Amino acid sequence: MKEFYRQTVKEVLDRVESSEAGLTSEQADHSREKCGWNELTGGKKKSITRIFFEQYKDFLVLILIAAALISGILGDVESAAVIVIVITINAILGTIQTVKAEQSLRSLKKLSGPEAKVLRDGTTVQLPARELVVGDIILLEAGDMIPADGRLIENASLKVDESALTGESLAVEKDLETLSAEVPLGDRTNMVFSGSFVTYGRGKAVITDSGMQTEIGKIAGLLKSTSEKQTPLQVNLEEFGKKLSILVLIFCGILFAISVFRGEKIGSAFMFAVALAVAAIPEALSSIVTIVLSFGTQKMAREHAIIRKLQAVEGLGSVSIICSDKTGTLTQNKMTVEDYYVAGKRIPVSELDPDDPAQRFLMDCSILCNDSTNENGVEIGDPTETALIHLASQHGLAAASIRNLYPREGEVPFDSDRKMMSTLHRIDGENRMIVKGAVDRLLELTEQIWTHDGIREITEADKITIQQQNQSFSMEGLRVLAFTYREIPEKHTLSTDDENHLIFLGLIAMMDPPREESKDAVAECIKAGIRPVMITGDHKITAAAIAKRIGILQDLSEACEGADIENMSDAELRDFVPKISVYARVSPEHKIRIVRAWQEKGMIVAMTGDGVNDAPALKQADIGVAMGITGTEVAKDAAAMILTDDNFATIVKAVENGRNLYQNIKYAIRFLLSGNFGAILAVLCASIGGLPVPFAPVHLLFINLLTDSLPAIALGMEPHSSEVMNEKPRSADKSILTKDFLGKIGLEGFVIGAMTMLSFLTGYHMNGALLGSTFAFGTLCLARLFHGFNCKSDHPVIFTKRFFNNKWLQGAFVLGAVLITSVLTVPEFHRVFKVETLNLMQLGCVYLYAFASLLIIQLLKWIRMKFRQR
Ligand code: ATP
Repeated sequence: MKEFYRQTVKEVLDRVESSEAGLTSEQADHSREKCGWNELTGGKKKSITRIFFEQYKDFLVLILIAAALISGILGDVESAAVIVIVITINAILGTIQTVKAEQSLRSLKKLSGPEAKVLRDGTTVQLPARELVVGDIILLEAGDMIPADGRLIENASLKVDESALTGESLAVEKDLETLSAEVPLGDRTNMVFSGSFVTYGRGKAVITDSGMQTEIGKIAGLLKSTSEKQTPLQVNLEEFGKKLSILVLIFCGILFAISVFRGEKIGSAFMFAVALAVAAIPEALSSIVTIVLSFGTQKMAREHAIIRKLQAVEGLGSVSIICSDKTGTLTQNKMTVEDYYVAGKRIPVSELDPDDPAQRFLMDCSILCNDSTNENGVEIGDPTETALIHLASQHGLAAASIRNLYPREGEVPFDSDRKMMSTLHRIDGENRMIVKGAVDRLLELTEQIWTHDGIREITEADKITIQQQNQSFSMEGLRVLAFTYREIPEKHTLSTDDENHLIFLGLIAMMDPPREESKDAVAECIKAGIRPVMITGDHKITAAAIAKRIGILQDLSEACEGADIENMSDAELRDFVPKISVYARVSPEHKIRIVRAWQEKGMIVAMTGDGVNDAPALKQADIGVAMGITGTEVAKDAAAMILTDDNFATIVKAVENGRNLYQNIKYAIRFLLSGNFGAILAVLCASIGGLPVPFAPVHLLFINLLTDSLPAIALGMEPHSSEVMNEKPRSADKSILTKDFLGKIGLEGFVIGAMTMLSFLTGYHMNGALLGSTFAFGTLCLARLFHGFNCKSDHPVIFTKRFFNNKWLQGAFVLGAVLITSVLTVPEFHRVFKVETLNLMQLGCVYLYAFASLLIIQLLKWIRMKFRQR
């Protein structure tokens, strides 16, 4: 059969069993049974069994398996069995954590998945792209990702960027012509392909191939699944972990040699060295980061910030500049028309009179040169435009009837570079083009002016009056659109070349009030050492008026226009950006330069964007933030985070979450490293003091693999506090493991190690090595469980409410305490765990030593805090 691009629209529609009205839901379900979901299935989901077995790939686990085998061969079946049980439980825990983390990431992906506008059951609906099927009619406009391969059936100046497929970076102009010859992909101008996006214009297409049958699907099938890239923190910790592992292995090797030299059996010396290595190597570091980050993203999604790249969560904590759009992000994007200005008069809406010819003409133009709709009271479209038809309907003018009277015969769509749009209509026997847009832009193209006495040449004085009116509207924070028109002598396809020789008609001023929460969010930013910057396409005076109201700007000298930075060199711009808080009349290219200038000054920049041209700036920013409601699919695709409520305050909240999550990861790392260090110190101390080894291998495995990971994860779930916003942003290139941090870990590890040794000595003197070792084991295990509460904060928390505010940590503590208490007191366990069964007094002693470590560390924190305050 012929390829779709060589068939007429009618042939294609028949072939995919569809019509211009699209499919019904029933037909779509039926079609989906045949062609499946519209998604690329290249990256297959890992099965749970595979995840489980992957837990055994770890170097340490392999050593443990070897150790179990050796113990078994040497006749110590019990030890072998314990090791196998312990690593199996550990693998099960690991599997649960991995599956949960993956689930949360997948649900996040679903939330941020692309959507498409499609005709279903006769109406236009927005659906997740994966629900589309062959035969669906999709509607395309600038900024849309193309969700599947399709044949165009309607085209209004559609241009598509197909670089992902063809490598061609220039956008391709589309048309409806049926092609006769076989041509390569890039020349199939009547088709659109999944994976590309609309840069300009509008169109309609019928889907011909979906999912893996699309051109990109055919390539994707060849590609391996791409896994999530590691975050800088994970890389940092992994490197640290590797270095530490080498040190530990050398240390354990030496210890092994000394033990053998002292005449210990090779088998047991080996087992001990292995257990110590397991106890000391912080293998869980980088997976803790993944778990904490992925759980954190769920909280953020509930708070309207969807994370698309895990790195963003980390980055958010060090954001120092937030560049935000104005319209809709800092303001409500609920426009209401406040004033008309026509025939030289300012008319408040309360005094509008649609019977006045000038006002009526302006109102008609505002309905015709407008893409929004009002069907059964539901307004769809850009709020700037819906405000215009809303006003008209209040005066008894229905948009639909005016549009039926003067149908649209051509158009040049709005784009934020030109800051205007044009439409062509047949009115009173003439081809009339209406152009609406930014006042300054249109005045440049205007030659005549409409007055009650007819049309005449526009004078400089007229232009100055109009500009002054514009200025005074803007100073009130109003957004102003100018309306112009012209006659087109011969009907032809409209282009930007027609946007000149215009006749000025009037201005319409609208109010878009700031969001209530913007002012507080801006204040919060400033308190947290973050500089909020407004970047907008709107007029400078309007933008500055709004910025002043919400606290971004103090003085008009902090505002500039895109044109002001146009001719600056990069070095000049670098010196200029700190002085500016509001950039008005900005084009997407200016946005990239502003981000870059800040980045060159060492700042971490979050930047919002919504339009198709914003994608490069969103990619350039450290945290690209796309608008979930008004944003185009392209912007969402380029962003690291999507705001489902388009609200500036949500970005600030996300920064707070990012800082908290980073802090919680620090708590977890501190917990793991200091506990491990305590264990090593105890062993080292015993070895230097010529004492028997304080732990049996199984003790170390028990602590490290069973009772240790839950408090660490629980610390990652510490309730968030707004205190993090009292500090300046953390420097992005500073390693998490600062000297100060390692110092604290060392000191706390020392306290735990010292208490363990004291406990060991107590037991040793009571009843020899076995009781000593039981005491040491119990104390180390409990001290580490208590230590979870130490790691909750840099400050002492023991007598505060905060001590009890993490139910996960309490749960992990209780579970761990029950486990260790059972091991120490149930006689059946004593052989397996190489302990002496303790009586109540002895158990009390073990608990006391462990609790003492908590008290001492809390005291140290208190002293440190007092010392700092001085
Ligand atoms: P922000 O960048 O904060 O979202 P914005 O919405 O004003 O602000 P753009 O959408 O780039 O930015 O619009 C730039 C200018 O183009 C506006 O100030 C206005 O003069 C004009 N404009 C906006 N929307 C339309 C429209 N639908 N039709 C014609 N002109 C428009």
